[in-house]
Amino acid sequence: MKILTVVGTRPNIIKITQFSRVAATHPGCQHRLLHTGQHYNHNMSDVFFEELGLRQPDYALRITRQGVVSQLAEMMQGIEGVVEAYRPDVMAVVGDVNSTLAAALVANKMGVQLAHVESGLRSRDRTMPEENNRMLTDAITDRFFVTEEDGRRNLLQEGKPEKSIHLVGNTMIDTLVAYDAQIRQSGILERLRLAPKAYALMTMHRPGNVDTREGLEKLIATIDSLTEADTIVFPVHPRTLNRLNEFNLFGRIERNGRLILMEPAGYLDFQHLVLHARYVITDSGGIQEETTFRRVPCLTLRPNTERPSTITTGSNTLLGFDAEKIRQTVASIHQGTYKACGVPPYWDGKATERIFAVLNGQ
Ligand code: UDP
Repeated sequence: MKILTVVGTRPNIIKITQFSRVAATHPGCQHRLLHTGQHYNHNMSDVFFEELGLRQPDYALRITRQGVVSQLAEMMQGIEGVVEAYRPDVMAVVGDVNSTLAAALVANKMGVQLAHVESGLRSRDRTMPEENNRMLTDAITDRFFVTEEDGRRNLLQEGKPEKSIHLVGNTMIDTLVAYDAQIRQSGILERLRLAPKAYALMTMHRPGNVDTREGLEKLIATIDSLTEADTIVFPVHPRTLNRLNEFNLFGRIERNGRLILMEPAGYLDFQHLVLHARYVITDSGGIQEETTFRRVPCLTLRPNTERPSTITTGSNTLLGFDAEKIRQTVASIHQGTYKACGVPPYWDGKATERIFAVLNGQ
């Protein structure tokens, strides 16, 4: 069986690190990787292949056009060429980014079976581009690989056949488990002159939070308030940096003496920072799951999440930009009264093995 996995962004790459290794344990499987080039900066893409020792993509597209629709069209044309040349039996797409949707549409139009890894998640917030990508991709998916029970329930409610839905766990956690020893060895805390638990870690990049001046002003106010009690380490996503510069707000956050600004971190350094953070404050999808696995308190500055098990079982709390709620939650972390946290079923480092066993008909 020929499997073509398509990735395009930082979180996609982190979700497929075990695919080639596991495919190699299935003699009937041939696995190829296609990178659409949606994320192309060194620190948003190449760094992960380098530090995680991943084989370079078998096919790499280059995006030249600006604008979401033009990029989708360009990616689809490039993926079509690869499908014509390689003729896969199955295409595996990951997560909820534009590359996911582009590849899903190509698979559907070219009659290739489509497997969606991390399917079924729903924030029910159609203002999020990711929610639209998830729903559109799942509408044409043949094999659904689900990370948590809620995803399975959503797909059943949408009328998907039960036998096509597989609750396999979380491939992002597979990566954490596989690289745990290297994560623990990172020297990032020494380089930043920080002690374990003496800082909070922040990431922020959702369009709903960073694309307007009003959103950025709220973010800056939140940072100013949090740094009264904690040093914050903030690796800044390229989108957020662009918006801060566009609105002439970068100087405002740069002035804060308890805020450590840095470029997007490599995976091992970033996960070392997560592991030793007092808490993480974020609007990321994946980081809600990684903090749950590590049992590190996670404050999510969004009105909703598509990953509810991180709240019901895990260490995540949804806060939006409610200053009072944020203050109270941080106080509970400082006082040691923050909720008890567990890890959802199958988040055990073996999700990729389960996926390939299903694809290989075992
Ligand atoms: N990540 C990283 N360096 C950073 C910030 C995040 O390696 O500076 C990793 C993080 O551990 C997670 C993934 O990138 O595995 C999450 O990506 P992001 O938040 O961009 O995407 P989302 O999950 O929100 O789609």
